[in-house]
Amino acid sequence: MNCLFCKIINKEIPSKIVYEDDKILAFEDVSPQAPVHILIIPKKHISTSLDIKDEDNELIGLMAQTANKIAKDKGVAEKGFRTVMNCNKDAGQTVFHIHMHLLAGRAMQWPPG
Ligand code: 5GP
Ligand code: ZN
Repeated sequence: MNCLFCKIINKEIPSKIVYEDDKILAFEDVSPQAPVHILIIPKKHISTSLDIKDEDNELIGLMAQTANKIAKDKGVAEKGFRTVMNCNKDAGQTVFHIHMHLLAGRAMQWPPG
């Protein structure tokens, strides 16, 4: 499968990994939009959030728990952080393997634009 993030999971493309277990990988975004910008992905290939099935519910929960753990480890949990999953074109999804952005280290704007 010609998927960028599957290649990152398989270590065919290098990344700066901040967390890994048998189901989840988290790595630094190559083009950070905040002092902390981490991508949290499932090792299972799921193209968009519209493709999440009932059987994936635990996996999506693990993504959120991983974001919490990384935010605490990086010392940004107390001040605050933002998690984002973009779905399809209008939201700006460019990589079609679901990923949760973890953004922190600066004050965020709302609405996000
Ligand atoms: P999206 O726009 O799909 O929500 O987010 C995709 C994210 O993947 C972007 O923030 C982009 O900077 C990041 N990205 C794209 N290619 C690579 C890469 O090869 N390595 C890493 N670490 N991040 C990437
Ligand atoms: Zn993939």
